[in-house]
Amino acid sequence: MNDMLVSNQDQLAILETVRRFVDQEIRPRSAALDAKQNPEECFSWELVEKADALGIRTMTLEEQWGGLGLDSLTTAMVVEELAIGDMGISVVLAQTFKIAQLMQKAFNDEQRARVLPVFAKNPRAVLAIGMSEPGNGSDKHTNQPVPFRTSAERTRGGWVVNGMKHFISNGNRASHYLVMVQTDRQKTMANGSTCFLLERGHPGFTIGRVHDKMGERLANNAELVFQDCVIPDENVVGEVNKGSDVFAQFSPQSNAYAGATVLGVAVALHRKAIEWARLRVQGGKCLIEHDGIRAQLAEMRMLIDASRAYIHRACWLADHPQSGWDKTLGALPKAMAAQSAWKIATWTMEIHGGHGYMKEVGVEKLVRDAAAFLHSDGVNRTLFLKAANTMFRA
Ligand SMILES: Cc1cc2nc3c(=O)[nH]c(=O)nc-3n(C[C@H](O)[C@H](O)[C@H](O)COP(=O)(O)OP(=O)(O)OC[C@H]3O[C@@H](n4cnc5c(N)ncnc54)[C@H](O)[C@@H]3O)c2cc1C
Repeated sequence: MNDMLVSNQDQLAILETVRRFVDQEIRPRSAALDAKQNPEECFSWELVEKADALGIRTMTLEEQWGGLGLDSLTTAMVVEELAIGDMGISVVLAQTFKIAQLMQKAFNDEQRARVLPVFAKNPRAVLAIGMSEPGNGSDKHTNQPVPFRTSAERTRGGWVVNGMKHFISNGNRASHYLVMVQTDRQKTMANGSTCFLLERGHPGFTIGRVHDKMGERLANNAELVFQDCVIPDENVVGEVNKGSDVFAQFSPQSNAYAGATVLGVAVALHRKAIEWARLRVQGGKCLIEHDGIRAQLAEMRMLIDASRAYIHRACWLADHPQSGWDKTLGALPKAMAAQSAWKIATWTMEIHGGHGYMKEVGVEKLVRDAAAFLHSDGVNRTLFLKAANTMFRA
């Protein structure tokens, strides 16, 4: 079953390649990697390298940097396909797609020439964004009048950074990072923080704990620690004290990609529910012949289709803002997809009866995965608040 509206041959060919990668490489490995106790061992360089060999890892780089220059809509389709196979590997690559797009737009010429060829050539290069801190979570989404704790003091030719970030996807694996740091402590995150580019191994920058997540386990998530870390002026992305603009201006589709990730899990759950409903006989007939179950399967389809349409609209308008980009599209598609996926997860478990609770059926993993995006990329309630703030100018 493929319900995506594919509009041209290039999209079709790209999605075919991704589906083959999912079937041949991701599906056979996903359950075993997910089951490992040590979170670091759930990550697979082999999968990243195979994605690289197929041109997937660098798909969003422009052709001049060695990629395919994927538009945002096609990128969301790819992210969904990957997540149908496994949410964790989709997160590893979706973060990389999104940050590569952002780097191309937000970097100056010198930064592009310095970083993009290195990123393109290294088959293990994945990317990360460090914003969240132990004391600052939702505040960054709702622009509360508080600064980031991770802060920088001016020094000759650069900045001395101290502090830490946590919950960072690809945190312990990335080759390059974009990190939000408070450069004016008298001001808020919105008008006193700066986006810095950092390379792995930069002096004063180390990786802390790797978080032990309940789901999306094939993606690692870690703390970033800064101890008198001197970052040169050349690594300021955009303008000093305007870090929040970097993400708002150059990655408007970020929220929709997060939605596409959790949507992939919803699709995988729906397929499992249908398969089970066709197989399981109760009351003398297959579950799918019971009207209550059939209606619920149709309702799941409605939630998936509506979420996908919202995500695709956001992605298309992110690339064509003059046609009516609306800032709520930077907050609401993910909330809708995450809520839909969570409903579909609980319904799928219910349709499976007691079997749904048993690990061997595979629904349990998908339920754990579906929960990730109730919080990741912003808790849904704070995304509603963010949208309300743009609607009503709080
Ligand atoms: C799997 C995963 C991956 C992640 N990856 C990254 C990453 O790559 N980079 C990164 O920077 N961060 C990442 N995060 C962090 C994520 O963005 C934060 O968890 C999220 O922003 C919420 O912050 P918090 O966890 O501190 O929750 P809190 O902000 O403490 O929120 C707790 C509760 O309070 C509510 N709340 C908070 N403020 C308000 C308010 N003003 N009004 C009403 N209710 C409110 C929230 O809705 C929520 O229900 C990731 C998180 C997860 C779970």
